[in-house]
Amino acid sequence: MKFKRVLLKLSGESLMSADETVDPGKLAAYANEIKSIADKGVEVGIVIGGGNIFRGSLGENDGIDRVQGDYMGMLATVVNGMALQWALEKTGIKAHVLSGLSVEKVTERMSRRKAIQYLEHGDVVIICGGTGNPFFTTDSAAVLRALEIKADAVLKGTRVDGVYNSDPEKNPAAAKFEHLTFDEAISKDLKIMDLTAFTLCRENNMLIIVFNFNIPGNLLKVLTGENVGTVISNH
Ligand code: UDP
Repeated sequence: MKFKRVLLKLSGESLMSADETVDPGKLAAYANEIKSIADKGVEVGIVIGGGNIFRGSLGENDGIDRVQGDYMGMLATVVNGMALQWALEKTGIKAHVLSGLSVEKVTERMSRRKAIQYLEHGDVVIICGGTGNPFFTTDSAAVLRALEIKADAVLKGTRVDGVYNSDPEKNPAAAKFEHLTFDEAISKDLKIMDLTAFTLCRENNMLIIVFNFNIPGNLLKVLTGENVGTVISNH
């Protein structure tokens, strides 16, 4: 396996279907992909978004105070984290939910030491609640947690095959990058992750691989070193 320990960033939005906020079929698909690498001995930390339920910026458009909305968004990530824990445990994978926002009846409080202990034991760790602070995103939370747990890479699962020079869902001529530096990603203003997440990676030399999580088997391919997605690094 290419990496010993990874931080998988999953979007909340991809859990949604036309009828369901958290679609059980999509949840099961997420869990099967994660199981495929956990079974091979890869230590897996997961940060999941909350965009299927609530986003602070959406609330702001409706007149909801930004900070109030951000906390609602962070709670949404807890809901998704609990759903993913249930789905993983159904596949026989032991998963712990740790939260940066205290909701202690349903999650454990995020602690770097505890997270690492669970990972070393071979369990999956879902770190939800974002950073625990408003004005951040779950992408920034993913990089922060990856650095805390000393992951080898952030694997950002998306619904497109990697990073393109324009939106491939809108422009059929869009071209995919095989590799980018953080400086290139920032200067081209590519909307892959927010600046906070990128600068954290750049300053701490954290590798990111952006790949299509909706294609079964892709996550395992990233781990076996196949040319899937776009690699973003300092060099
Ligand atoms: N959020 C926040 N602080 C964080 C992480 C998330 O305030 O550290 C809030 C923010 O309002 C965001 C929402 O949680 O809109 C849901 O997260 P995100 O939009 O990143 O989820 P995704 O789009 O990945 O599903």
